[in-house]
Amino acid sequence: MKHCPNPECGGIAKFNIISEFNDSAAACSDCGGRLIQGPAPRLEDRIRESSAAPEPDLELVPVFIAQNEPELLVVESVLKQGGIPYLAKGELIQDLFGFGQMVVVNPVTGPVEIHVRMDDAETARELLAESLE
Ligand SMILES: [Zn+2]
Repeated sequence: MKHCPNPECGGIAKFNIISEFNDSAAACSDCGGRLIQGPAPRLEDRIRESSAAPEPDLELVPVFIAQNEPELLVVESVLKQGGIPYLAKGELIQDLFGFGQMVVVNPVTGPVEIHVRMDDAETARELLAESLE
């Protein structure tokens, strides 16, 4: 079996599949292009592959560990004022809060790790250092 490797092949537009041919065929009957050996890849797979520009994973880095609620509240207000989205991760609140959402924990039952995007980490650390001195 052969198939037409031409991505602009008229057969794709016509039939919505990549044309397949017998081994005896030499050229694509739709576009006249040279055929290559092997069954045609499924068009959906091809589309998925070519448009698969995976979003880079959001890289979060820890910038601070709040040991208690007052500290956590300071951190939150500092980051909010700085326009820095953050994620608070604590033993009991992990995964309960979406990125950038206000965390209200009462009482805080353990250290809460504050994560921000890697791009914001430096700014966040500076802001926090100033505010928590
Ligand atoms: Zn063709």
